[in-house]
Amino acid sequence: MYYSRMKKKSWGFDPKDMDKNVRPQDDFYHYAGGNWLKKNPIPKTESRWGSFTILRYETEKRLKTILEELGKQKNPQVNSPEQMVGDFYHSGMDIKKRNKLSIKPISQYLKTIEEIKTTEDLLYSVSNFHKIGINTLWWNDVDQDMKSSDKNILYVGQGGLGMSDKDYYLKNDKESLRIRNAYLLHMEAMLSLLGLEKKYLKESVGKIYKIEHRLAKASMSKEDVHEVEKIYNKKTISQLKKVAPKIDWVKYFKIIGVNKIENLIVCQPKFFTEVSASIKEVSIEDWRLYLKWHLLRSTSRFLSKPFLRENFNFYGKVILGTKEMKPLWRQVLSVVDGGLDELVGKTYVKKYFDSETKKKANSMVNDLFIAYEQRIKKLDWMGPKTKKMALKKLHAMNRKIGYPDKWKSYHGLRVDGSDYLGNVIRISTFEHRRMIKKIGKPVDRKEWHMSPQTVNAYCSQTMNEIVFPAAILQLPFFNKNIDDAINYGAMGMVIGHEMTHNFDDQGSKFDTKGNLKNWWTKSDHENLRKKTKPLIAQFSKYKVADGVSVNGTLTVGENIADLGGLAIAFDAYQLHLKKVGRKNIDGFTPEQRFFLGDTLFERENTSPEFAKMVAINDPHSPSIFRVNGPASNLSEFYEAFNVKKGDKLYREPKDRVKIW
Ligand SMILES: [Zn+2]
Repeated sequence: MYYSRMKKKSWGFDPKDMDKNVRPQDDFYHYAGGNWLKKNPIPKTESRWGSFTILRYETEKRLKTILEELGKQKNPQVNSPEQMVGDFYHSGMDIKKRNKLSIKPISQYLKTIEEIKTTEDLLYSVSNFHKIGINTLWWNDVDQDMKSSDKNILYVGQGGLGMSDKDYYLKNDKESLRIRNAYLLHMEAMLSLLGLEKKYLKESVGKIYKIEHRLAKASMSKEDVHEVEKIYNKKTISQLKKVAPKIDWVKYFKIIGVNKIENLIVCQPKFFTEVSASIKEVSIEDWRLYLKWHLLRSTSRFLSKPFLRENFNFYGKVILGTKEMKPLWRQVLSVVDGGLDELVGKTYVKKYFDSETKKKANSMVNDLFIAYEQRIKKLDWMGPKTKKMALKKLHAMNRKIGYPDKWKSYHGLRVDGSDYLGNVIRISTFEHRRMIKKIGKPVDRKEWHMSPQTVNAYCSQTMNEIVFPAAILQLPFFNKNIDDAINYGAMGMVIGHEMTHNFDDQGSKFDTKGNLKNWWTKSDHENLRKKTKPLIAQFSKYKVADGVSVNGTLTVGENIADLGGLAIAFDAYQLHLKKVGRKNIDGFTPEQRFFLGDTLFERENTSPEFAKMVAINDPHSPSIFRVNGPASNLSEFYEAFNVKKGDKLYREPKDRVKIW
């Protein structure tokens, strides 16, 4: 794997991974990593395999050691990290017991569904499900109020579908039909495992599907969900009652643990109106079927093998194109790691993160801030008034690196070594309660929304901050002993990417403190919008597979971030070069090595199913376009690799998109 191949004196990039038969000016992605892609086919248990997923896998192996070591302690104290982590992991790994129990762990919930006689009973069940983490029909969440970012507020939004996007229900193209037909068969198989007689299967699935189809029709499109103003619909409780009169909201809030509430954000009012109407119009018998299906869908991963297998058949094989299920330890590990995230994370950073890495990351972030500031000052499309505000916002942007200063408490959570699903539900309930308690309280700006052992990064527009967990600050993306061209090209680009999110098509709408409030002059915001148009057009032309194309509108925010991140990281690296001096390595100039470093994040093989799923659902563009797209717009790349008219990546200077 990566670590063993990384020789002692390596500069962080192995030229043997390149495909020299491809010209960098035609397809930089394959030039830089073509051989690597050939040498790293997708394992059967994966739908994608690349530097990102490999690092995730390496991290999983480290976490496994942590989990096993914690579990080895004899007679640990109840509620100690050793007991909770050890017992949770053990309860999941005991597959013999899980097989023996079969559907017993969900029998009490099935019974309450069976007992539903009235719409009141129905809403009572839905509310109780929400409390334990089964978000059917809609979801609830507590987060910063987008227009008053120091306060927390309750959000409710559309849900209730078994397929990830409304288009799968409504469109009739080849890919939608393939997924939809498989979904119907999957529901049949699941209900059959539950014990429903064969003669009722088709009819029952038809009834459930009819409800979901109705919900899908009333759902907001993913492009609209992405537009923050469209989902920010603040309502008082009496206004909410008018939106969805058939739902007893007072009772709902009481059951999910909300004592006092004056207003909330209803992300999709139209959807709630439709849910409200359907509650009366759909028969109770059909609702019982629908709830059973969603109970199964949410819990099958924690039940016996036949359920695991069938869940994998659809969500793994059909949707992602994965051939085999992951081994049990990886399935359970992801659940334990997700459920007790900061408990596991605390041990992880003690073992695998050092202060020198944090120091180096911090100094790189400093260079990126300077580079971004210089770029904003030089912009020809932004007026002085907006520039002043943009710089103010940039200077106020907070950074979090490595791990939180203050860890979450798990006091009072009960974990049982022989009750896997019970543990999952108790943890969901515990976290839901923790979340609900925040309503109306001031926002804790020290809190993290990603665990330190996560190989990823994020930006929060309402916090005006960027966050880089310990686990992403590793090889092949970042290391204190490799060439800094790679550090700036790989990790530096990701940092720049996250920084620009606070100024992208949506992030630009939030002010210094993370409030949804306009600080742009009208003409400057119009200029930004105009600048993004050709980027939408450029990416919409990229083809994925089977006639599926990249969605230029859905991906525009990420594409702005990729382009801006690369430009800013390039300048930051130039600042760094002034301090340390230039040299060539293996015949590559510093600038060439910087761009080679940028490709490291995107090296990835994907199954055709996965590629199509990403193109339909994901706001990120496919890997190849995340490299070639920005490169073809950046004049610094043209210079580094001498790109000329007639080369495939060449775009006329007037067509090259430059935002930051
Ligand atoms: Zn992003």
